[in-house]
Amino acid sequence: MESIVRDLEKLLKIPSPTGNTHKAIDFVEELFNNLGLKTAKTVKGALVATIEGKNKDKEVTLSAHVDTLGAMVKEIKENGRLKIAQLGGYVWNTIEGEHVHIETLCGKTYTGTIMTTKASSHVHGEGTKTIERNAENLEIRIDEKVLSHDDVINLGINVGDFVHFDPRTVVTESGFIKSRHLDDKAGVISLIAIARHLVNNNIMPNFTTNFFISTYEEVGHGAAASIPNKTFEFIAVDMAAPGEGQTSDEFSVTIAAKDSSGPYDYDLRKRLINLAKENSINYKIDIYPYYGSDGSAALRSGYDFKVGLIGPGVDASHSFERTHIEAIENTIKLGIAYLTN
Ligand SMILES: [Zn+2]
Repeated sequence: MESIVRDLEKLLKIPSPTGNTHKAIDFVEELFNNLGLKTAKTVKGALVATIEGKNKDKEVTLSAHVDTLGAMVKEIKENGRLKIAQLGGYVWNTIEGEHVHIETLCGKTYTGTIMTTKASSHVHGEGTKTIERNAENLEIRIDEKVLSHDDVINLGINVGDFVHFDPRTVVTESGFIKSRHLDDKAGVISLIAIARHLVNNNIMPNFTTNFFISTYEEVGHGAAASIPNKTFEFIAVDMAAPGEGQTSDEFSVTIAAKDSSGPYDYDLRKRLINLAKENSINYKIDIYPYYGSDGSAALRSGYDFKVGLIGPGVDASHSFERTHIEAIENTIKLGIAYLTN
């Protein structure tokens, strides 16, 4: 598990907000290539790594998404601060105080901090507390001598520049991984670990297997195109959501029965549950009230295959996320059991 956590830490630290994912995709491609897997990129930038199976006429595809939440410069204000637009869905207060990188079109980066327009309690008193956290009232303070709109333009910063949030990755002695973007980089690393297990142990999966690393999941169309066409079963590996009323936790793999997009394939769910039982894998069955996956995106775009959703429990998703190594381990085990039984 140690090298898996090391790879995960590296991946978490590579900025990859939806729409600007090539560096993370290149990193993941290298990991697959190092295992000897053939890889190809789709036109819109997703990665497909393939491992040959005993049956080559039918294929299975496991997906995970490398794109994350982020932001874009929406407006350069007269006082030299930046308004931002969201990439992906999150609540504004989860990014207040966050350190960011602003990436200009020519690739230069500047640092800054996201704060409300009434950040100092010595200046704004009660207003500091009551100001609503929204697009209007949050801004980036750039760490440069900029006092006007033109000062910012002169740095090369412009509307549309990507804003990366500091992932704040910490691995604790007790086995927790605290970081932004565990959704779904924990899933991506699980797929790499599954591939590594097969390669290192000379195991041929039952069917030719594709690992599909998508790049637009957070905006809903990640796996909507270019899934290898012999695919008859598709499993999205994405974070599970623990919390009030949920069965998921940070130590198990969750097998989703349903999310907002509807039920996952019943036959496939039963098979995954049986595999978890037979292999003593800690698992939960859960329903997510506000959730859609790359499996949902694929089905909605018209693909005709069975779709399942599994993944490690990630606490406080789209906020200050945390999971435990055991959840990733259980996800990897279930993926291996699915491909080899
Ligand atoms: Zn996700």
